[in-house]
Formats: sequence, C-alpha cells, structure tokens
Amino acid sequence: MGGYAGQILYVNLTSGAIEKKPLDMDFARKHIGGLGFGATIYLDLIKNHPVDFDPLSELNPFVLMTGPLTGMKMNGVARWTVCSKSPLTGFYGDSNVGGFFGAQLKFAGYDGIVITGKAAVPSYLYINDDIVEIRTAEPYWGKDVYTVTDALKEDLKEGQKSGQALVIGPAGERMVKFASIINNKGHAAGRTGMGAVWGSKQLKAIYVNGTGKIKIAKPEALDELRAELKELYADSIGIMALHSAGTATHMDVGIIGGDIPIKNWQQTEWDDIDDIGPTVIEEKIFAGHKTCFGCGVACKKSAEVKEGPFQMEKGPGPEYETIATFGSMCLNSNIESIAKANEICNRYGMDTITCGSTIAFAIECFENGLITEKDTDGLRLTWGNSDAIVKMTEKIGKQEGFGAILSLGSAKAADHIGGIARDFLTTVKGLEAPMHDPRSAHGYGLAYAVSPRGACHEASLTFEAEGGLIFIPEIPELSADLPEGSEDRAQLNVACQDYGMFFSNCAIFCNLGGSPLNATQAIDMVNHVTGFDYTLDEILKIGRRLWYLKRGLTNLFGARAKDDRLPNRLMTVLEAGPTEGSVPDMDRMLAEFYELRGFNAEGVPEKQILESVGLPELAGLLHL
Ligand code: SF4
Repeated sequence: MGGYAGQILYVNLTSGAIEKKPLDMDFARKHIGGLGFGATIYLDLIKNHPVDFDPLSELNPFVLMTGPLTGMKMNGVARWTVCSKSPLTGFYGDSNVGGFFGAQLKFAGYDGIVITGKAAVPSYLYINDDIVEIRTAEPYWGKDVYTVTDALKEDLKEGQKSGQALVIGPAGERMVKFASIINNKGHAAGRTGMGAVWGSKQLKAIYVNGTGKIKIAKPEALDELRAELKELYADSIGIMALHSAGTATHMDVGIIGGDIPIKNWQQTEWDDIDDIGPTVIEEKIFAGHKTCFGCGVACKKSAEVKEGPFQMEKGPGPEYETIATFGSMCLNSNIESIAKANEICNRYGMDTITCGSTIAFAIECFENGLITEKDTDGLRLTWGNSDAIVKMTEKIGKQEGFGAILSLGSAKAADHIGGIARDFLTTVKGLEAPMHDPRSAHGYGLAYAVSPRGACHEASLTFEAEGGLIFIPEIPELSADLPEGSEDRAQLNVACQDYGMFFSNCAIFCNLGGSPLNATQAIDMVNHVTGFDYTLDEILKIGRRLWYLKRGLTNLFGARAKDDRLPNRLMTVLEAGPTEGSVPDMDRMLAEFYELRGFNAEGVPEKQILESVGLPELAGLLHL
C-alpha cells in the first residue's frame, strides 16, 4: 500500500501519555483520510460522555488528520484537516488548510494527531521523526504567531534544516471564540475557533520535523496521470488566474453577478470596488508569489506596505474572503488597511471571515445608535473608517475594551448589545457566512443552511458547482445545466455533499488547485497513490456515509431544523444590482432536501437512514 504514513499519534496533555497506534488499512479504506478519519475518531472519543460539555473544557478532544495525498508533489493536494466541538458555535466544527505542516507530519511518520486533556502549564508538542515529547512553551506563550513560528524554527533546527511549526497566537491563548491555528504565518485553520480549543488546552504549538518518505503504490501509473494533467493545468484559465492574482481575482469576477457582499450584505454594487481589486493589489501591496507544499498553482500572494499608517513587513497577503470582509463589507476602499488587518489577524491568530464580518456588524450597530464612541473606547466605527477598522481588529485580538465583546463573534456580541442588533447578523448556526451571496446563486443558501459546521461554502463543493468552477461529467447533478432560481438545488446540494466529502474532506484535494480534475482523474490519483481500487460508486457511498456522520455530530450537539435557516439579512430582497428581486426559496429547497436526506421534521436523519449508510452507533445516540 502507499499514501499513508501508517501511524496515528495520540497525545493526552493531562497525563502526558503519548501513544503511536498503527493505522488500520481496513479503517483507511472505509474512511479515506482527513475528516473521514477525524470525525470518526472524534465521535469515538465523545460517544460515552454527556455531549453538553464545554468546548473549552478538557473533555473536548481535538483531531488533526492528513489525507492519503498530503505530501505528494502534485497540484492541490497539500491540505489537512482539524475537527472538534466549536467554541464559536457550540456545534461540530472543522477546518481545512494547506501549507506545509501536513506534508512534514507525514514525512515524520504520522497520518494525524489526536489530542485530549489539558496541559498543566503552557506546552508545545515536539515531533522529530520517532521522537515525540510534550515540552514547556513558557518562552513562547504570550507571543504572536510570526514571532513564535520564527523562534521555533530557529531554536529547533537541525543543522540547516528547519521543521514546520503550527502555532496559535495571543487570541488563541485568550480563547477568542474564532481563534485560528496557523502554519507558516499565513496558512490558517481559521473557521469555527479551533485555536481557542488549543488555548483551552494550553497547547501553544506543534513543531514537526520529518525525514521519511511516503510510498506510492503505483508510481508508473501516477507518472502517466501527472503527464496527462500537465496539459490540463496549462490550458486552464481558472488556474492561470489563480496563479497570476490569487483568490483576489474573484473581486473582478464576483461583482458581475452580485456575489460579493457589500456594506454588511446590504448591497451588491459599490463605486469603489476596483480600489480593492487585483489591479490595485498588484500596484500597491503585491510582494511575490507563494505556494503550498508541492503545488505549482502557487495561488498565495505576499503583501508589503512600505510606509504610512498601515505599514507592514512583507508577509502573507489577504485572500479574497479577507479582502471582502475587511473591505467591501465595511465599505473600506483602503487596500493597505486590509493588508494590515490581515496581518493582525495572522499575528494574533484569528479567522478573518468572522473577524471582518463581526466588525461590519459592529459598524452597522454604531450607525444605528446601538453603540456609541463610549462603548467603542473612542473609536468612530463608521463605514469606510479604515483606521478604526484596523484598530478594532487589534483590540479584538487583545480582548481589550469593546474588542472583548466582539471577540465572542457577532452572534454573541448581538446578544450583549441587544436592541435590533440581531437584525444585522449574517450567521448560520453562529458561524458568519463566507463572502458569496446566495441571492446570486440560490444553492449556496441551502449549502449554508444545512452545512454541519454552519455557513460554509467549501466543504460541499456547491459554490464550485453552481458557480461553474468545476465540471464533473461522471455525476449528472454536477454537470447538468441548472435552471434559474431554486429549482434542482436540493439535488445539487446532495450530490455536492457526497462527492465533496470524498474530494475536499477525505482525499483532501484543494478546491482551488484541484478544480480542473474530473472524478475519474481524482479517484485514479487516490488509487495510484494508495493502491486501493475505489470506484465512483464506492467513493460516493463513503462520502454519503461521512456526510451523515458530520451532520449527526452537529445534531448530537443540539442543532435542529430551526438552525437550518438563513439570517434575515441574507434573505432580504435587494432593490438594485445584479441580484435585484432575487432571494432563495428556502422553504422549497429545505423541504426537498429533508426528503432526499431522510431527515425528520426536527432536522435529524431518521434512524433507518443512518443504519442503512453504515452508522448504527450514531443512529443509537441520536434516537435513544
Ligand atoms: S491551489 Fe493555492 S491553496 Fe490550493 S494547494 Fe495550491 S497554493 Fe495551496
């Protein structure tokens, strides 16, 4: 067999016990990798306890898993996943990230790490091939992500070779509800607050150095596939755009169809949009191309601001989602300030989508008199006030003054502010929606509503399929022409979820770098690397089972049908712009989806459905 490192590391921070368990190949075949491993192991760890535990207590396990392709030198396969109970939402949470950590972990000999308990003192996990130790993090605690990343690499390097550091910042230490975990300063496991889980465990970092190699089961077949894909990638306009301008390229494309939220989702047109688009980025802040391990797409961009109030040293630049949350959402047309806010989020370790969206929400509260300068420590939180936006970002990272309220995320901040603040929310299950407007593509609305982790555009591939970024001819729903409106979106979402569980969650292809692949090529790649003989039918069955597993975990933590709704703000009819008059028909899509998925009226999968897909234990837990 190939692809897998062959061991999973179990670390109990309370007892200090470290155990290396061999990866069972039957388990690998049945779950593929990534969140297939992660969610299954997570359920196993919590199933015998009451499920109402605090996500920030030592009862909450944290699971990090790579996929069978992580560590291969190929486009779009550098990714790895994390999952736990989310401190932001209280439901199941996960995040999917690229960079270099996953590859290095596999070179050290591990497919994943399971962390339980809580360290008595600030600690970090040191992994150097076979050597695994829990060490004190006292010298690093309180320091920001950039400082600790550099320090760990310098302090622990062997000769000239440094390993990879995965780090939380001061926001994670303080358990900011949307704290992230960051590799190489800019590759963030951002969504759902996994950094706060680390903070609660007093886990500052994982440092890993690996010198091993990952075996490829069928190297000749993989080489042939690589040669075939070379041409495909060279001819792909989407890949060229990603290489040239990164995800910021969507600022030019998304505005045409009304996909980019503006002024906290109140409009889809804005005269200043070009000031934060790829051309201005190139002129003002671009400082070079970057990539993830083994990926020739190199969609990551560095940024630098040489002078002025938002001066920042060369480092990871803002992605599309960050440009939209700190830019168009706040009517902020100052691209240098967006780069600075991004740097602050990276240094403190915070999710830029939740952070920027929460600031846009606060600006609307300020505009409506729900909060004043007295509440905001003298900051005039007004639309487009780039100085105040950047200062508030730092206050959130420090949990200073009003920043402490916003560090709870917008939903809990709205409860604190009161009045009509909840009208300005853009959350589903407590997670702020990503920067793609369901009024421009109704299937996104259903994807946000029923996603296990809350409003999410990545895990299910609905964004890519309905947005025309992928074409999967082997799956009818992912290659058919869609009618306008909300028709057929339930079927689309089901197909996207089943295939997306294989593609984005378990094999862990990057939705960007893997976008040119059809299903045959993606499955062939997994088969050539692992030596398995998956068919499309089998991977869709596995994807279906694991989608129900994630959904069931969120149901176990209390999510019900009332949580499968879009906030009013996303359902408000716009009177101008490309999406004028368009709102998703949520009642219709949800009714069709519930029927297709076999949910009861409470939004819980029926017992016989869970049993039929191979989840009898979960069925027992959900239907006592
Ligand atoms: S396409 Fe971009 S995000 Fe995806 S693996 Fe390549 S460099 Fe990383």
